Amino acid sequence: MASERVYQEDAYLSTMEATLVRHEGESGLVFDRTNFFATGGGQPGDIGFVESEDGDRLKIVGTVYSEDKEDVVMMAEAGTTLPEPGATVVLHVDWKRRYRLMRMHTACHLLTVACPFPITGAAVGEEESRIDFDIADAVPDKASVTDALLELVAANHPVFSRWITEEELDANPGLVKSANVRPPRGSGRIRLVCIGENGSVDTQPCGGTHVQETSEVGEIHIGKIENKGKTNRRFRIRFGPVPA
Ligand SMILES: [Zn+2]
Repeated sequence: MASERVYQEDAYLSTMEATLVRHEGESGLVFDRTNFFATGGGQPGDIGFVESEDGDRLKIVGTVYSEDKEDVVMMAEAGTTLPEPGATVVLHVDWKRRYRLMRMHTACHLLTVACPFPITGAAVGEEESRIDFDIADAVPDKASVTDALLELVAANHPVFSRWITEEELDANPGLVKSANVRPPRGSGRIRLVCIGENGSVDTQPCGGTHVQETSEVGEIHIGKIENKGKTNRRFRIRFGPVPA
């Protein structure tokens, strides 16, 4: 049984109980279910701590998928004593960091609406995120993209996810905005992240964590647009108002 990825159904669950199934390597922990997001799709994995029944706290320094991509592996700080399989513990996500990543990740989706070009790369960060676009023609300017982003934030569109089959995705190739990254296949189902009523603002495959309403993204701006190759343009999103 693969670890249940609770963060895919409820991104706001910062604390929950889980049972340790096994160790992986020197410091990896695999639980029956977890609210810790595993690194993927440009979003970094969660950090936080695991609280045992007697109140001991074990620091978690990162979260990744197992090699076969089935399990979520939470990495304990090196050199610490791990709980034994069967132990029931409480998982605490570093919520301040995760919520910033959720806001930033949602902002990245909004940028693909404000800037509708094929995506060649993306990375979500706590302070700054970047998306690379393939833009052969005139590149939109920072100010107009920032204005379009803030309009989408202010409109407070709902953000939600739903699952489709791989066949449904094949029948709708336009859903995939990434030029070189295909959504992971093999499980038979694909998670779509939708913005707006019925996904009218944006709908694309994504396994990440997002906020529930676009207003939660808050104030953001385009900090920089860089040339990274002939038609590759790197857009950087930052929190806060446009610097004076
Ligand atoms: Zn996403």
